[in-house]
Amino acid sequence: MATVTLTLADDVAVITINNPPINATSHSVRAGLVDALDKIEKDAAIKAAILICDGKTFIAGADVSEFGQPPKNPILPDVIKRLEASTKPIIAAIHGHALGGGLEVALGCHYRIADTSAKLGLPEVNLGLIPGAGGTVRLPRLISTENAISLITGGKPVSASAANDMGLIDAIAHGELIDAAKDFAKTIIDQPCPTPLVDRAPVDTLSDDQWQETFAAVTKKARGQIAPQIAATAIRTGIEQGAEAGLLHEREKFVELRDSDQSKALRHIFFAERSVGKLPDLDGVKPNTLSEIGVIGGGIMGAGIATASLLAGFKVKIIERNEDACATGHATVEKHLTGSLKRGLISQERFDSLMASLSTSMDYADLGNADLVVEAVFEDMSVKHDVFGKLSLYCKPTAVLASNTSYLDINEIAVKCVNPARVIGLHFFSPAHIMKLLEIVRTDKADAQSLATAFAFARKLGKIAVPCGVCDGFIGNRIMSAYRKHCEYMLEDGALPHQIDDAMVAFGFPMGLFAMQDMAGLEISWATRKRLAPFRDPSERYVALGDYLCEMERFGKKNGLGWYRYDETGKAQPDADVDALVIADSAKKGITRRNFTHDEIIETILSAMRNEGDKILAEGIANSPDAIDVVMINGYGFPRHKGGPMFLTRSK
Ligand code: NAD
Repeated sequence: MATVTLTLADDVAVITINNPPINATSHSVRAGLVDALDKIEKDAAIKAAILICDGKTFIAGADVSEFGQPPKNPILPDVIKRLEASTKPIIAAIHGHALGGGLEVALGCHYRIADTSAKLGLPEVNLGLIPGAGGTVRLPRLISTENAISLITGGKPVSASAANDMGLIDAIAHGELIDAAKDFAKTIIDQPCPTPLVDRAPVDTLSDDQWQETFAAVTKKARGQIAPQIAATAIRTGIEQGAEAGLLHEREKFVELRDSDQSKALRHIFFAERSVGKLPDLDGVKPNTLSEIGVIGGGIMGAGIATASLLAGFKVKIIERNEDACATGHATVEKHLTGSLKRGLISQERFDSLMASLSTSMDYADLGNADLVVEAVFEDMSVKHDVFGKLSLYCKPTAVLASNTSYLDINEIAVKCVNPARVIGLHFFSPAHIMKLLEIVRTDKADAQSLATAFAFARKLGKIAVPCGVCDGFIGNRIMSAYRKHCEYMLEDGALPHQIDDAMVAFGFPMGLFAMQDMAGLEISWATRKRLAPFRDPSERYVALGDYLCEMERFGKKNGLGWYRYDETGKAQPDADVDALVIADSAKKGITRRNFTHDEIIETILSAMRNEGDKILAEGIANSPDAIDVVMINGYGFPRHKGGPMFLTRSK
């Protein structure tokens, strides 16, 4: 039950919010704040007040259970006005997160101090919204317009030190936050209460040209999402037409956006990502303790997995085939971590200690201390069998043994283990130290403890873990194979590669399917197709265009020719030779080509995704349609603001 308590320490009152877990601005908190402010106003002994929160964080957002309910007075904008109107200065003392409505409350206070670990932000655009309680109007009256635009349209929180640099807070608290807040109060208690932000002039403004540039940049970055652009307009309105007009405009747009398809989609995926890894049958199952991770194969994936594991604080041992491969794996991890060092994400000291936690070996016996091993060797069943046979022999009996295979049957891989109950799939996405998605594959015999350990590992790595069953390609690659097939059919039926890609980009994908294939390289899937050719159903339609390209040594971006032709800068250009090849292929098959509109292309792709998604659900490979949406958005570039293929086609 939420509480707001008021205590008096000398002449400084302390308002404490206690509404676990995130001290959300629930109705009882809003009402409690107004009560506390009334008491402070009436008590002549009180000269100033501190607003602080119990638990792990300051106010970190709204109460999601009130979403979709009729608003209950006092609403947040009125509470903030009430804070602002206090004749006695109020100091927001911030720890943890001050996000969304939480930061807006802090902006209603007269001063803000934050401890060193605090994060402050207005992340509403991530849910397809704009701040709804004065954030777009008050923020540019406290910090520069440029910083306000970046904070609001980007939706990324900033650290206490960045907040201090930009003037968002008045001081950084060292030591106990409440003590620092009381010390701060002493320095301002005899000064007049500062002018509330709404009554101040904006810190600065932009010229018309600068606004145009801002809108263009925000629109480009948003890739089809409308909220950032609307947020920028709201900021401009508040600056140019005054605070009152700005507040009215902001509220109107906030309410409009709350009912928009994009916000519904973004809220859907926000909640889906948080619920998808919660499996009731693993409730209460204690995961194994993890401290050392083994990685078999230090290639593209293995090095990425090793990097992610090091960054999560594990000791890592890479097993490779020979000394050269060990050195390459080691060097690749070093390159990844050097990237983090250069970008300021880790210190030199941390870099050194991470590198010291990495070792390589050719001897499987060195895996004796590994608590979990991820295999990332060549995609070949006999190689995988060989590896799992050795793992079974050399790893301790409690170690969880995982395969990162893209397509192979992990039940079949597990047969080489004495105890297949500890074999699972951990399907990472490339680059594995950056991509957030991880499919956790439940083999037929996997026991609950191994699975619980895999989920605990994923949490430590900061991944979004999606459980799935064994099938060809699991959730994501299986859906991608299905829609790729339909894209290839469209090529033969009349579309050109760049037309399909253009339609996908216009829909919101970062790149089209064919450009993506060029980037990945065409020869790997060509090798797979050749390997699987003898098993192909001869009655099924087969499009050989990808094979023809490889036969012409067009392997993709890396050799400058693939579905596209690449100029010296690496920019893709549609290639008349490929168009001719596609058209000739239709003619050879006696297909009369027809035009495809963008809408038809997207409809075809969506229905292929939807159909395969339905099959995946019927077979129990995915637990829910949400799991499919989470995979397609986080691993395959499906536009987030469309909510995923299952959400989009269900809500139509
Ligand atoms: P890769 O060719 O870059 O790396 C494979 C590494 O395994 C090589 O360094 C090789 O020396 C090593 N290796 C081979 N046999 C070994 C053995 N017996 N013992 C120790 N090391 C051995 O391949 P990759 O792209 O990293 O793919 C690895 C696995 O991950 C494959 O199963 C692949 O399907 C899967 N995968 C790849 C991607 C991707 O985008 N590349 C994404 C997800 C999953």
